[in-house]
Amino acid sequence: MIAGDQDTICAIATPSGRSGVGIVRVSGAKSRLIAEKVLGFKPKARHAHYCPFLDEQQQVIDQGIALFFPGPNSFTGEDVFELQGHGGTFILDTLLQTLLAQGCRLARPGEFSERAFLNDKLDLAQAEAIADLINASSAEAARSAVRTLQGDFSRLIEGLSESIVSLRVYVEAAIDFTDEEIDFLSEGRIAEKLSTIAGELETIIAQAHQGALLRDGMQVVIAGRPNAGKSSLLNALSGSDKAIVTDIEGTTRDILSEQINLDGMPLHITDTAGLRDSDDIVEQEGIKRAQQAIGQADQVLLMIDSQNDAPDPDNLDAFLDTPYFSQIRDVIKRSGLTLVYNKIDLSDQSPGIEVISETPPVTAIRLSAKTGPGMNLLKDHLKALMGYRPDGESGFIARRRHIDALQRAQQSLALAIHQLAEHNAAELVAEDLRLTHRHLGEITGEFTADDLLGRIFSSFCIGK
Ligand code: GDP
Ligand code: ZN
Repeated sequence: MIAGDQDTICAIATPSGRSGVGIVRVSGAKSRLIAEKVLGFKPKARHAHYCPFLDEQQQVIDQGIALFFPGPNSFTGEDVFELQGHGGTFILDTLLQTLLAQGCRLARPGEFSERAFLNDKLDLAQAEAIADLINASSAEAARSAVRTLQGDFSRLIEGLSESIVSLRVYVEAAIDFTDEEIDFLSEGRIAEKLSTIAGELETIIAQAHQGALLRDGMQVVIAGRPNAGKSSLLNALSGSDKAIVTDIEGTTRDILSEQINLDGMPLHITDTAGLRDSDDIVEQEGIKRAQQAIGQADQVLLMIDSQNDAPDPDNLDAFLDTPYFSQIRDVIKRSGLTLVYNKIDLSDQSPGIEVISETPPVTAIRLSAKTGPGMNLLKDHLKALMGYRPDGESGFIARRRHIDALQRAQQSLALAIHQLAEHNAAELVAEDLRLTHRHLGEITGEFTADDLLGRIFSSFCIGK
């Protein structure tokens, strides 16, 4: 699509209701003409005019600031006209009606940002960061969204894409020298360069994971044997008595979820039914759901009654080597584990935290869910897992969609490495590199399907 082909859109850009200032925005080819009608004079480019706003009968609707940004140096890349008036529902609606009568149509949610994207003012990851910045619930998420908006994430992706494209060009050249293909590839140290790129990709995936946790919240699942204190921990974290705490084994038959905030960082915490073998149908269902939840968790807190069955941290494998924990073993390999030794109050132990292994990251925390000591250690630990940095440094914000694309890129790259190492097949290596580049390009919108764009922008607010 080209800017000139589009109709002219308008929307109220500030929240509905009463406020000091209300902003109405117009973007598209008719903006200049409409500005002249509403103001009664030709506005100067990028100049703040303080003046009356007129309706079609030349009646004054309001008085405020009018700004005109000629394209392509505007947010959308088109001619943009902005009216900053008083934030009353009636005034803003009347302004909007006037604009509609002058030939604008109402903008769809996210349509201004979509036009900015289509006119190359922003890439897709940056456009998404606008919505993420608006929705940010913590200083950390806001800072990270700004960094993505400024292009930090996109630059990483583009750097990687460039390396991949230049390798692909080299490998494709090798295809034409069938006899010397092998020499050609080894002279170019292609294998070495591929593995460097794989390493960089791995780092970006880890950063994107943290970025997505900041945006969507971390999925935390509390697992463990009956009576370990799972429900008590959920209650202690959420400050409610939602989960039923009892002495009878198997009380939590269903799974209970709570959303909590730690310094504005969202966490979804799920208390699972005690994992155990059971003949009870209802209980079995609960166990099945618990295992599902564990499978999808970003972090599992394994609750252990330190009075009863505290495992030897150095011999965790033995502790986990039971059918109950079959799922947890996979999760540990993927994202580590937090062991929570609960009920320290019963044996007068002091609270503490200890790193048991770096890869995968396994941490042990001693606390009492019932009386409180050690709970702050757990909260700080969870914040750290989400990328909270007290020094104000931050990463970039990312979405599930980005991680999916990065992981697909990683798979294609791994195939390329395999084709080279096992088969020396330049043609196949080139094809896998092409796919790697494509997957990465989905992040910035270099390659994207229209329906995906529609889905992304329709989740934005109107006027953005
Ligand atoms: P769940 O089955 O794992 O959900 O365990 P619950 O949270 O229902 O707790 C089982 C029992 O242990 C209850 O009687 C709790 O009051 C008790 N309990 C839980 N945490 C603690 C703790 O830190 N200290 C003490 N002394 N008792 C606890
Ligand atoms: Zn429980």
